Amino acid sequence: MSKPRRPLIAGNWKLNNGGQDGIDLARAIAAEVRGNDSVDVVVAPPASLLHRVSEVVAGKVGVSAQNVHQEASGAFTGELSAGMLLFAGCKWVIIGHSERRQFFAETDELVKAKTAAALKAGLQPIVCIGETLAEREAGKTLEVVNRQLDAFSSVIKDKPGVAAIAYEPVWAIGTGKVATNEQAQEVHAAIRQRLAGISAELSRTTRILYGGSVKADNALGLLNQEDIDGALVGGASLKLDSFMGIVNAARQVA
Ligand code: PEP
Repeated sequence: MSKPRRPLIAGNWKLNNGGQDGIDLARAIAAEVRGNDSVDVVVAPPASLLHRVSEVVAGKVGVSAQNVHQEASGAFTGELSAGMLLFAGCKWVIIGHSERRQFFAETDELVKAKTAAALKAGLQPIVCIGETLAEREAGKTLEVVNRQLDAFSSVIKDKPGVAAIAYEPVWAIGTGKVATNEQAQEVHAAIRQRLAGISAELSRTTRILYGGSVKADNALGLLNQEDIDGALVGGASLKLDSFMGIVNAARQVA
């Protein structure tokens, strides 16, 4: 089976691999990416490494930030704007990760503002949405996912195919509890259908990634689902073999 959208595999290193280990890993991943690869491979190192990783991967691997500030400049100590991330070599930025929502009080409104700022500057956002375990058990998965999606969909609609959406059920992140292929596909299909209500082109071109305990041995089953266009990977992105195992699964379905 070949996918209607080019698969995208993104590794979110979070607060890890921030020294020479990160540079070495980025170099090793770039060495495994082919010039005519059928998959887009992206790494999101800590901000302090963005510039050096961008140089090391030399365009073979996309570089993503893990966060961005919504303003272009000003008195916001400790923050980085979309323009600054571009200058550091980023092409992508992860926005609204559940850890940002949980530990840094990021709201749907803020996610919208950050997504707009990223797109305006020319960065490609990977916007994360997903329900908690309590919300799933209360039967509110689609209600929550639709609310989070509706918050920013108006800002991605004029640039179809530029932003990616990551569906990451919070209960599956870093827990080893992966959603079943069917659970993931059901939500991905609902997201795509919701996008179709905005524009057919947006729905057709938007890559919807799955995230939550993706590993080399469960990636193929997930990526084989019709509406799963890639993966946002945390733990398994920290080592070459486990990350490339997922990239190889994506190559099989591309
Ligand atoms: C993530 O943090 O985006 C993630 C999906 O983590 P993990 O793969 O470790 O569950």
